[in-house]
Amino acid sequence: MGNMFTFDKGIRLDAHPIWIDASNVVQQCCVSHGHADHIRRHKLTYATPATAAFIRRRLGDVTVREIPFDQSFQIGPYSITFLPAGHILGSAQVYVEHEDGTTLLYSGDFKLETGRTAEPLRVRQADILIMECTFGYPKYRFPGRDELEKRLCQFVEQALSQGQYPLVYGYALGKAQEAMKILADHGFELAVHGSVLHMAEVYQRHGVDFGNITRFRKNDDHRNKVIILPPQARHLKMIRALRPSRSIFLSGWGVDSAVRFRYGVDEVLPLSDHADFDGLLRYIDMVQPKTIYTTHGPKDYYLFLRSLGYNAHPLKPSQQGELF
Ligand SMILES: [Zn+2]
Ligand SMILES: [Zn+2]
Repeated sequence: MGNMFTFDKGIRLDAHPIWIDASNVVQQCCVSHGHADHIRRHKLTYATPATAAFIRRRLGDVTVREIPFDQSFQIGPYSITFLPAGHILGSAQVYVEHEDGTTLLYSGDFKLETGRTAEPLRVRQADILIMECTFGYPKYRFPGRDELEKRLCQFVEQALSQGQYPLVYGYALGKAQEAMKILADHGFELAVHGSVLHMAEVYQRHGVDFGNITRFRKNDDHRNKVIILPPQARHLKMIRALRPSRSIFLSGWGVDSAVRFRYGVDEVLPLSDHADFDGLLRYIDMVQPKTIYTTHGPKDYYLFLRSLGYNAHPLKPSQQGELF
């Protein structure tokens, strides 16, 4: 069938132009999830209902056709299906089947471990796999989810028992809500920054129960509560005024413990919403692709995949992807 897609600031399915995660505004685009680097004011967006809700929260009125997971829709010769990516609530892989039988899976951002707030990853085999490989270095091997949750709870308990404010930093969409859910399920009371709360409301509407949470306000009494904050809040005066405090930043980059100096926090915990080094390989194993295109992460990750015998290529601007 020759070319199936072109990469040009996003994936363009050639036979009947529709895009996936285009970073320019286009006519028709499938959007994998609600993170800011993936959403735009396209003329028409296709997204899961939760992603649609995040888009509206961030961009206001945008035309979105909501497509639940596992429901195929037809665009020209393509049948397109969203599959859960396990990254954040509503995050999807995009599975494309051309009428000639060729299949393509676009991973979007994904993770294999089942978290508490994202639909668990489910894959299908595909001829062509386009995958993110953010943590494609061997040093990025994350501890298991249980271990990470335990360490987060221990951090909080210790801070509280020493009369310190526990400050938990995570991205306002996804990471912060995962932390909220872990801590709420362990019985902690939360005071949540407004920007995190704004996104958490979508989670609540999709059935994620955070228990009793209050909005973090400057002059309220937050003793005995865990304070959930977006990374930018580190520099706020009202946060610096919370003393004594102890801070933790949730990020996959935290496998380098020196990262805490860069973030200016006491601890970094590698609770990630991306696949780690081993996860990337397990993912490929499940998809069984004939051809792999890599994006994000180490520039030479495709060479590593080639050394393992895969037919792998880096995605380069204006590159056309061919099956054979
Ligand atoms: Zn993302
Ligand atoms: Zn991303």
